[in-house]
Amino acid sequence: MSGVMFERVALIGLGLMGSSIAHATRRTGAAGQIVGHARSHATRDRARKLGFCDRVVESAGEAVEDADLVVLCVPVGACGAVAAEIAPHLKPGAIVSDVGSVKLALIKAVAPHLPEGVHFVPAHPMAGTEHSGPDAGFAELFDNRWCIITPLPDGDRVAVDRVEKFWSALGANTAEMTPEHHELVVAVTSHVPHAIAYTMVGVADDLHRVTDNEVIQFSAAGFRDFTRIAASDPTMWRDVFLNNREAVLDILGRFTEELFQLRRAIRTGDGDFLFDYFTRTRAIRRGIIEAGQDTDAPDFGRVLSKHEPES
Ligand code: NAP
Repeated sequence: MSGVMFERVALIGLGLMGSSIAHATRRTGAAGQIVGHARSHATRDRARKLGFCDRVVESAGEAVEDADLVVLCVPVGACGAVAAEIAPHLKPGAIVSDVGSVKLALIKAVAPHLPEGVHFVPAHPMAGTEHSGPDAGFAELFDNRWCIITPLPDGDRVAVDRVEKFWSALGANTAEMTPEHHELVVAVTSHVPHAIAYTMVGVADDLHRVTDNEVIQFSAAGFRDFTRIAASDPTMWRDVFLNNREAVLDILGRFTEELFQLRRAIRTGDGDFLFDYFTRTRAIRRGIIEAGQDTDAPDFGRVLSKHEPES
């Protein structure tokens, strides 16, 4: 228990992220009260049944009334409209944050709507699974994962510190960087890997004669991890690629160049090149395990498939 850090926390969007924040906040006692809202009746109803919020209300405006911390947990492309909707209902001094996987475009869409005296602290917890909706959330999602905060240049320091402490209480490690740098980091670590997984699964699907049975039967040989990543939410990932276009295209360009080199080495039978290349990449994998960001288990610790961390 960390003690109450915010009297009232409002969560707009009650899918994987919103419900996990609610569970983790409950676990740590960081909020006096958690108020939630989701756009559909079905999600609000389900959230009420699951009971991870103290109150689930009918409108985003009502949810943020009197809230000390508001966290936008909706797809990146929806954050601007939600900010416009809640703006007249925010109390002076309130902190607005988010969990969006893209920061530059989101800041551009949200910041202009927020009134003077309300502090905007953009954040991105680098934790997730391929599951979505209010049933997908769990309190341990953020444990030992990173939450990147991208403070605005004229942002309120006290508000940034409070958001960082909140994420620490939820179990995450926090780091600060500029939104520009964040876009590049996540393009390398998350966005382009997802693009590659989506493509590889698409390629296998095109080869019907293989997919019909062998790909499924023999998928543990590497393909299975691609299918898991490629099962991620289509709305979220559409918004990620539409909103982090520049960094993704930059990294995809570099990826294509490397792929050409690899292809050339395979075609010309350059075993030394392949051996050196794979030795270098193996060291990166070891670094990730040493940093506690994955496990060395033969199945990468993914036997219990529901709670698989990824960003
Ligand atoms: P999710 O499980 O699909 O939940 C999304 C929530 O947003 C739902 O409550 C949904 O409402 C609501 N929503 C969807 N479209 C909306 C719209 N146009 N206007 C208002 N509300 C809308 O998604 P999630 O995984 O929690 O993702 C939420 C955010 O977290 C995204 O910005 C994403 O970039 C970020 N994020 C996700 C992950 C991950 O691995 N999933 C990791 C880090 C960050 P209904 O249920 O009523 O439709």
